[in-house]
Amino acid sequence: MNLVTTEANLPGVESESWSAEEVLEWGLAQFQPRIALASAFGAEGMVLIDMGLRLHGGIRVFTLDTGFFFPETYELIDRIEKHYGIAVERYYPALTPDAQARAFGDGLWSRDPDLCCRLRKVEPLKRALKGLRAWVTAIRRDQTRARAASPKVGWDGEYGLVKLNPLADWTHEQVWAYVRRHNVPYNPLHDRNYPSIGCTHCTRPVQPGEDLRAGRWPGLAKTECGLHVRTVTAPQVAG
Ligand code: SF4
Repeated sequence: MNLVTTEANLPGVESESWSAEEVLEWGLAQFQPRIALASAFGAEGMVLIDMGLRLHGGIRVFTLDTGFFFPETYELIDRIEKHYGIAVERYYPALTPDAQARAFGDGLWSRDPDLCCRLRKVEPLKRALKGLRAWVTAIRRDQTRARAASPKVGWDGEYGLVKLNPLADWTHEQVWAYVRRHNVPYNPLHDRNYPSIGCTHCTRPVQPGEDLRAGRWPGLAKTECGLHVRTVTAPQVAG
């Protein structure tokens, strides 16, 4: 049953006190099947896939396959599908890697990573969100400055649907405690000093003492791919 249709009837600020399970439970009860988790299968995304299965027998999962995932990530997707009995929905860029190189030259990610992310992530995201009434992300507030104010339940005005961030207030340690407690499958690159994993061209392992996202777009000021930087309206205090 779909009870929430607009920004006006989102839950109140009490949703900020909800646990991750409660946020997910609320979203699934309201919007299933027009709700889906966006994931590149980092540890946080794996937690939510596992949680969705425990709560509701599953959650739709989609990924924005840039064509530049690590082989370990593609292998993990296959493993997830078998382990959880789900079919990951895959959205691809309009241009193949070769077509992008013909149109924009080789190595666009090193010359204009914002354009590369727009072509390979943001545009496919728009297609993925079509027809949905809510999307779920695995972002945590302490990952980047752009994510610091992310509400657990908000209205995504850019795309016109509800955005749920059930792990907004989780720490890195909480994520890994859940993974170990529930024996959740994860990307083996995490054990090789890749705490955050994106495209091969833009991800390197981190050194001891470095920020957990220091391996993303190394050498550039860029910290976000453009999927989570839009303003999301948080619930308001009534009255
Ligand atoms: S992360 Fe790098 S390779 Fe991947 S889409 Fe963005 S700029 Fe391109």
